[in-house]
Amino acid sequence: MTEINPRFGQHCDLRRSVRELCAQFKSEYWQKLEESSAYPEEFVRELTRAGWLAALIPEEYGGGGLSLSEASVVLEEINRSGANSGACHAQMYIMGTLLRHRSEEQKRKYLPRIAAGELRLQSFAVTEPTTGTDTTSTKTFATRRGAAYVIQGQKVWISRMQHSDLMLLLARTTPRAEVKKKTEGLSVFLVDLRASGPGMTVRPIRNMVNHESNEVFFDNFEVPAENLVGQEGHGMRYILDGMNAERILIAAECVGDGFWFIDRARKYARERVVFNRPIGQNQGVQFPIARAYANVLAADLMRYEAAAQFDSGQPCGAAANLAKLLAADASWEAANVCLQTHGGFGFAAEYDVERKFRETRLYQVAPISTNLILSYLAEHVLEMPRSF
Ligand SMILES: Cc1cc2nc3c(=O)[nH]c(=O)nc-3n(C[C@H](O)[C@H](O)[C@H](O)COP(=O)(O)OP(=O)(O)OC[C@H]3O[C@@H](n4cnc5c(N)ncnc54)[C@H](O)[C@@H]3O)c2cc1C
Repeated sequence: MTEINPRFGQHCDLRRSVRELCAQFKSEYWQKLEESSAYPEEFVRELTRAGWLAALIPEEYGGGGLSLSEASVVLEEINRSGANSGACHAQMYIMGTLLRHRSEEQKRKYLPRIAAGELRLQSFAVTEPTTGTDTTSTKTFATRRGAAYVIQGQKVWISRMQHSDLMLLLARTTPRAEVKKKTEGLSVFLVDLRASGPGMTVRPIRNMVNHESNEVFFDNFEVPAENLVGQEGHGMRYILDGMNAERILIAAECVGDGFWFIDRARKYARERVVFNRPIGQNQGVQFPIARAYANVLAADLMRYEAAAQFDSGQPCGAAANLAKLLAADASWEAANVCLQTHGGFGFAAEYDVERKFRETRLYQVAPISTNLILSYLAEHVLEMPRSF
């Protein structure tokens, strides 16, 4: 059957290379991992070896030096293949914080080793159990004592910690009551998980998808002062800096999922015969698939628009948020339609539909929930009164 992505010709070689790599990891591979709740170590190793996870590291540090548009195609194709970028995407979207806010010496220390696959930067600790989306209320606190910062607090849903060497951590360094603006007084630290001493306890959280995520407790946990990223107190700005890239990359993953679901749905609709004809001959089955396809394509246009704005250095907050919103909705619609088209078999693990259905549902909540995006658009684009 023909390719359904009209933009396949764009970055064609890149798409083919990622597809070839992903094709080595068949359905059974992902199903086995689910059964044992295991991390796709081999898959991530191969992606790293091929250089795809270093796509956004500049060539001078040994990386791919790709644009965000190109990097987003890598993640799109991973999800398009039936795999899940959630095992490894953070390295792409948190890289910008290191690139923009670390000294040249620090960049030389870490980036070539990350690019070579010797180090993994896959963990990003922001969310807390008691503050949730209200990031400026972060309670985890870092106090400077001599040559170290001492961390006290708790984080939740911190993904890939057990398969990463490095983690970015957001903590308060000045109490909220002592800063003029609530976004001030937060700092970012680069935590070397391999060299970390006592004071950090990590507990895995069993969850709806096969995704390694943890709660983390810090009790007088020391981070060398040299691991402060940029300036103390400016951490919120550094985190916000990376969010547009994150939104665009996530939108591309959703688009990849969307195409996967549509492809599976149309194939099954052609093959499955009930009442002596393919179910796809019924317009009641065709139309929802066609509509979901239209919505994936529309979201994809917004994703490319946002990526182009980002790559040309324009402010792209509105476009990045729109892309993430539309793409997450489109992939979820496509997931529902695909499952419905498969009838009972949609629930059977061997078809992968139920796994991808669970995986794509996450994009409505993480890394940013739909309501928070709507709130951004309402306040910052439509200029309605600030809600919180
Ligand atoms: C599998 C998984 C992996 C994750 N990985 C990471 C990670 O690696 N690092 C990390 O830091 N975090 C991670 N997260 C956390 C994720 O970013 C948060 O779950 C998400 O941002 C939502 O925050 P919350 O769960 O605290 O929801 P809450 O903030 O408690 O919100 C709950 C619901 O209420 C809505 N809501 C809250 N306030 C408002 C408002 N003012 N107006 C309208 N609606 C509102 C939200 O949209 C949401 O739907 C992960 C989460 C999951 C499930």
